[in-house]
Amino acid sequence: MNTQTPTQYTRPQLPMHLQVPDERGFFGKFGGSFVPPELQKQMDEIYRGYQHICRSHDFIRELRSIRKHFQGRPTPVYYCKNLSDKVGGGRIYLKREDLNHSGAHKLNHCMGEALLAKYLGKKKLIAETGAGQHGVALATAGAYFGIPVEIHMGEVDIAKEHPNVVRMKILGAKVVPVTFGNRTLKEAVDSAFDAYLKDPVNSIYCIGSVMGPHPFPLMVREFQRVVGIEAREQFIEMTGELPNNVVACIGGGSNAMGIFSGFLDDPVDLHGVEPLGRGAKLGDHAASLTYGKEGIMHGFNSIMLTDEKGEPAPVYSVASGLDYPSSGPEHAYLKSIGRTKTVTATDAEAIHAFFQLSRLEGIIPALESAHAVAYAVKLAKERPQEDILVNLSGRGDKDIDFVMEKYGDYADKEY
Ligand SMILES: *Cc1c(COP(=O)(O)O)cnc(C)c1O
Repeated sequence: MNTQTPTQYTRPQLPMHLQVPDERGFFGKFGGSFVPPELQKQMDEIYRGYQHICRSHDFIRELRSIRKHFQGRPTPVYYCKNLSDKVGGGRIYLKREDLNHSGAHKLNHCMGEALLAKYLGKKKLIAETGAGQHGVALATAGAYFGIPVEIHMGEVDIAKEHPNVVRMKILGAKVVPVTFGNRTLKEAVDSAFDAYLKDPVNSIYCIGSVMGPHPFPLMVREFQRVVGIEAREQFIEMTGELPNNVVACIGGGSNAMGIFSGFLDDPVDLHGVEPLGRGAKLGDHAASLTYGKEGIMHGFNSIMLTDEKGEPAPVYSVASGLDYPSSGPEHAYLKSIGRTKTVTATDAEAIHAFFQLSRLEGIIPALESAHAVAYAVKLAKERPQEDILVNLSGRGDKDIDFVMEKYGDYADKEY
């Protein structure tokens, strides 16, 4: 007689992206919404609007059509044979978000946010920008939907990222220079927040990454998830298998969450690359997950870099889009449960990778994305039998003048 109790079928766990965040926007202890009550009313309205549209067939149909006909998606996955052969190890592949319309992954969430703004009847889109990529993407979305756009940008970044400032103006956006503090990304966020608080009923603050108060970390991830979904399918079609590793740079964390979320439930190592700038001393880098601690800033709880007074610390990276003193709450969560690994690349390593990819593959990466490429090259040497998929978050046209002026000597090296 069989004495074994029959095995009970238990429903498998939900996919990870459905497990977090909870209804209040928490990824474990990270995330949430720490804003004044009048702003919380707006966040609730945005969340209700989002919950409605993401279940609406009309909305999904419109966004899919935009992805295909306006943005030019799907972007390809490309095998870097020259680079891989040269490095002499694992195989390196790129998800080509540099070929997404407007030159970076950011348009993926900007089109979603602007579509939501249209549904909510908002009359103005407000945002901050670092490298100018989010500003350009939002200006593009504003032009498409016919909604006015106001972009706050630090003076330092305005000088450094001139081409993007011009692009925003041509696209019809108003660029507001930020003249206080370090005059970079963090101050731009403060300034944009203040502008939004002056008229939160008629305007919407389109946050540029998987950060800020709930529901933005959720919404931006969902709008970026298209990257991971496409990349997983394309990679399997190309190679018959999953990659062993996925690598992405982390500023706020949107391009990384986009590609990671396609592979969270797979046996794939996920590596988030933070900017180590000039070195490990506070003020010389923006590696917030690596060196930071728990705290609340800009309306959410995450891991961040703070000074002795607990204020956001000054940060630095050669890549303007990465120099933010915190990262999205989902990255803090995924790291805390051991699902992702956080690693770093310095300015010098990123610049080297910038030239290496340009010379060997004919692809000029954004300085942000060059951090991911730099780490992928290292990983390829350490893991010669493995496949490495990198999210090439953007193209480097915006950086060429700055790089040649400051790092022109790298152009004479052998790659
Ligand atoms: C803005 C930007 C980043 C950093 O933002 P995340 O939210 O961390 O993705 C990375 N790469 C490029 C090209 C960018 O423009």
